[in-house]
Amino acid sequence: MKNHKRKHSHRFKIIDYNLKEVDERCSCGDNRTRPTTTKEKKKFKKEHTQMLKSIGEMHKLHHDFDKVFKKSVRYPLKKKLWHKNAKGKLIKNHIIREWRWTGYAMMKRVRSWVNQNPTAQISSCDDDVYAGSMLVLIPHHNKASWHGITVIYIPQCTGEKPTRFFLYPHHQFQLMDKMNHFDNVLRQFKDGRSELRLYRRSKHKAKDLLRRNALK
Ligand SMILES: [Zn+2]
Repeated sequence: MKNHKRKHSHRFKIIDYNLKEVDERCSCGDNRTRPTTTKEKKKFKKEHTQMLKSIGEMHKLHHDFDKVFKKSVRYPLKKKLWHKNAKGKLIKNHIIREWRWTGYAMMKRVRSWVNQNPTAQISSCDDDVYAGSMLVLIPHHNKASWHGITVIYIPQCTGEKPTRFFLYPHHQFQLMDKMNHFDNVLRQFKDGRSELRLYRRSKHKAKDLLRRNALK
């Protein structure tokens, strides 16, 4: 290994960087830290701005949704729960983002929001007291890349707050696999098959209606 090290001139590649220093490593394992050049500083700054912009685009719809449906609420914390911020100051209050509405009041507002933002989707379900409820699906992506889907479950009549969870692609595929599994199970039942036929017919009808309205 020592000989190998002597024979070659290092070819360093950047492994970490900031605006002050660049850490580099050669394939032989040797590291070095050097100051960032002016040219690199410009490049890093540009890359960082672009990264922030593309992250902003990726989560824009999700943030738009939150702007409408969440509000900031300040909760006084018990003394033992106080924590210091970066400047060492004790934080007296804790800000929590809360849903503005629940149940049907939220559902009807979400429906009209989705009409304005058709990249989001709504799917139906029942809540814990068998009342028709809602799943809102909000995609996170920009022009170049896909991140995942936020799902918000809004129960209509349980009095519970909406619940949010996030599906990375592998979660999405797993859920789809499980649903496909139950789709196959459902087909083994007569009433399951007729439900499927009814659903497909109503989907066709909805498409027809859209087509006819578009022609008008
Ligand atoms: Zn080397």
